Amino acid sequence: MSGCRSCDRRRSRQVVRSPRRTCVGCRTRREKRALLRLVADERGHLRLDARKRRPGRGAYVCPTAGCIEAACQRSAWGRGLRRRVAQVDPLALHRSIVDSVRRALAELTRAALSDGRAVQVSASGLPSNGSSPGLTLEWGQGRVLVTDPRLGTELESLVEQLRQLEVRIR
Ligand SMILES: [Zn+2]
Repeated sequence: MSGCRSCDRRRSRQVVRSPRRTCVGCRTRREKRALLRLVADERGHLRLDARKRRPGRGAYVCPTAGCIEAACQRSAWGRGLRRRVAQVDPLALHRSIVDSVRRALAELTRAALSDGRAVQVSASGLPSNGSSPGLTLEWGQGRVLVTDPRLGTELESLVEQLRQLEVRIR
């Protein structure tokens, strides 16, 4: 028996609702954090917005070669961004997205290591400073323990996107 029903409802809605966007490749609605955000530069070239913070309209796509290719074939980027975009080869776009995600991960990790929001983790899995709580992330070049929860969530979704992007479909 709880107090105000409408307050309860509002509260539970807040918990459930996380922003959702539609993939321009497969048209599935998914959580924004699971999708890649692409923007177009002034010449109409597609660029990954790895941190999803750039102003202006973005187009969202699942982090898979299949959805990137489908979006290119359906000319869905221009529709999603509501502007003209340059013709793009799906494989080249996929490659540039993978490079951008890797670069974003490397830059964010480097900054976090230098200001103490992350610590390097040894091969045995133990953080060098003992037992700070946090999230251990591992990809290509290393292993870090992220102690800042917000950054941890952001890095975790980039690592997951990279993992999905690197799955070869042929
Ligand atoms: Zn998709």
